[in-house]
Amino acid sequence: MSTGLWPTIRGLCDWLDRENGRGDHEMAMRFLKIAEEAGEAAAAYIGWRGQNPRKGVSHTRADVEAELCDVIVTAAVSLATISDDPEAVFAAKLEKIAARAGVVGKCSAGLLPLGNAPVERCVTQGRHDIHTTANGQTWTNVHAEVQ
Ligand SMILES: [Mg+2]
Ligand SMILES: [Zn+2]
Repeated sequence: MSTGLWPTIRGLCDWLDRENGRGDHEMAMRFLKIAEEAGEAAAAYIGWRGQNPRKGVSHTRADVEAELCDVIVTAAVSLATISDDPEAVFAAKLEKIAARAGVVGKCSAGLLPLGNAPVERCVTQGRHDIHTTANGQTWTNVHAEVQ
């Protein structure tokens, strides 16, 4: 069984479809589940910080991490429930967010240097098949690269 994110999400969607169908009620419940998990994440964070004097520190960082994973998975299941290609929708959205924040286009590919020359980094932004250095050298991923 694949443990990749989207194959697993598709599997969870299929499982819910088989068990619960896909009526309006089930669709709404899948969206409510996101709020439930967000609440659990908030509760775990509060418990980790020991904010409630009556309860003290009741959670660990691992608890918070696990609840955040639940939020991600439940949101992904809802996305996969309404979308024909959730993976592509998510990738496109992530790219937009990254571009807005200025973190896109930091391609990690570089040409292996000769001798002591510095690594020539790719300067191409966004998705691309051909890497290009600042001085115009191009290559594809079939050639040697450093990460
Ligand atoms: Mg949870
Ligand atoms: Zn590149």
